Amino acid sequence: MRDLHGPDSAIDRTLVAWMPGRASATGEDTAEFHLHGGAAVIAGLVDAVLACAGTRLATPGEFTRRAFDNGRLDMSQVEGLADLLSAETASQRQQALALAGGTLGRLAEAWRERCLQLLAEAEAGLDFAEDEADVATRLDLAAADALTTMADELDQMIADSARAARIRDGLTIVVTGPPNVGKSSIVNALSMRDVAIVTPVPGTTRDSIEVPIDLGGVAAVLIDTAGLRDTADPVEAEGIARARAKAAAADLVMHVTDNPDAPLPASALLVINKLDLHGRSAPAGHVAISALSGAGMPALRQWLVDWAAVLLRPGEPALLAHARHREAFAEAAARLREAASAPLPELRAEALRLATSAFARIAGRVDIDDVLDQIFSRFCIGK
Ligand code: GDP
Repeated sequence: MRDLHGPDSAIDRTLVAWMPGRASATGEDTAEFHLHGGAAVIAGLVDAVLACAGTRLATPGEFTRRAFDNGRLDMSQVEGLADLLSAETASQRQQALALAGGTLGRLAEAWRERCLQLLAEAEAGLDFAEDEADVATRLDLAAADALTTMADELDQMIADSARAARIRDGLTIVVTGPPNVGKSSIVNALSMRDVAIVTPVPGTTRDSIEVPIDLGGVAAVLIDTAGLRDTADPVEAEGIARARAKAAAADLVMHVTDNPDAPLPASALLVINKLDLHGRSAPAGHVAISALSGAGMPALRQWLVDWAAVLLRPGEPALLAHARHREAFAEAAARLREAASAPLPELRAEALRLATSAFARIAGRVDIDDVLDQIFSRFCIGK
């Protein structure tokens, strides 16, 4: 506990932690003030510190950037931290923590080292004399096998990257159906917020409204579409065109009707609303609800949670959520296959060098200048 004094008055009585170089997160000498949170306390300390020569406020992401520059974090860990700062659901948090903890960086590094080893072997192969040709051939075949196995593993991860990206960015569910069947009421009930405007006048929702929801730890966005009807009003027509475009790209179409005899849609979840008025149950695999009374709402929510779990398997780690990582791995896989089938040791060595540098990009060892600013701009000041 310390009494902190400014130039002319007391600031706070609080804990101050001094962390010399190696113990701190940035790898630099750091002092941490654990203040009582009042605005005047914080302002008093900031003013007192800024009055000292050579001090200034940190820029966005500066502490993380220093940690990166000092080798405390690799680039993939920085990206994981940025994800963690914007994580809203449990599965986003877990995925971000794995990345921030260095899981992907370590994997890429292990693969890079394996490539370097094979590169050394390929280069040694250049020196084999004529009479050792059969030894060289055997080594070649073994190396080609190892390279193909690595490329296969990379391809498997790349195939799973769409799932990883969905966990990070969230699933999209578009709510379609004629005007006045209760779409906005359902969006409100599912999100437990009054975001969409509910009114008895058909065609009130002129644009689509996006509402984030948490489906058992999986992030999703509900898109409440403009009432899909033909209209002469250009503003409403624009909303409807956008809704149709979104419906086409969504992970799930939730088609709402208030008619229990409505035909089953081909590839959508049919939600028959206004159960309180008709009292009829839905065909298997679909749901009947009343957004007004709440009847059937838990079953609808559970349907969505189960659907999200089947699609994204949130308990299973997925590592390639970032396009930058996916592209680096795809490049590495292509180069490894090239190396495996290279007709000459010189060509194999060259392809391996390129694969090595693709792996190095994950940790940010090479080719990072263009991504650095973009990544750090996602951080807020003080992180
Ligand atoms: P949207 O145009 O499809 O978005 O429909 P709204 O959510 O704006 O609802 C249209 C009207 O239907 C409003 O008056 C709602 O109160 C009413 N409504 C919504 N759900 C139900 C329901 O389950 N039962 C009954 N009786 N009325 C409902």
